[in-house]
Amino acid sequence: MNCARPQRGQPSARPSPSTTWTGIRTSSPGGLAQRAATALALVGEAPLLIADEPTTGLDRDLVDRTVDELRRHAADGRALLMITHDLAAAERIADRVAVMYAGRIVELGAAADFFGAPGPRHPYARGLLDALPERAFTPIPGQPPELGALPDGCAFAARCPHATAACEAVPEPIDGVSCHYVPTDAQARAQEPADA
Ligand code: SF4
Repeated sequence: MNCARPQRGQPSARPSPSTTWTGIRTSSPGGLAQRAATALALVGEAPLLIADEPTTGLDRDLVDRTVDELRRHAADGRALLMITHDLAAAERIADRVAVMYAGRIVELGAAADFFGAPGPRHPYARGLLDALPERAFTPIPGQPPELGALPDGCAFAARCPHATAACEAVPEPIDGVSCHYVPTDAQARAQEPADA
């Protein structure tokens, strides 16, 4: 993928759908600066918008407005890739969810299944939702490994309640989930949200 950026002093050309993408990133802690960056990115009508933590540092009202604008971009038939730790924003925007741990995608699937029923299937992804105040409010124990010193097997093993000897090998993705643990039917039902 190419990235066309106008040089300083040159007039900015309208982006060509085949050669450009628009990313959002700002180091400013100011919510208004963050939102201005989002608005500028949306003006170009790029076919693919990459939003990197677009709601970080915003208060709830600005988060809601930013989410609405991004959702409208996607609803207009254009693509949106949002990188975020804000699961509430992801739930409102995403059609599909990819959960990454230690640099790898560990779960990929439909947002409706992920945030509703049957819910996340990977232990790390489930831990992310369980850590939310509006859910179990239970943090995942431990810390993620250093990316430069990953273990040979599953990178989540040291924090995983389901780790077994099989987890000494990196799991291959099956049906969108990279994990050796397969819950029984009863365990899967117990993991479903109470209101599902
Ligand atoms: S592969 Fe093993 S350690 Fe890794 S998440 Fe699955 S059960 Fe846990």
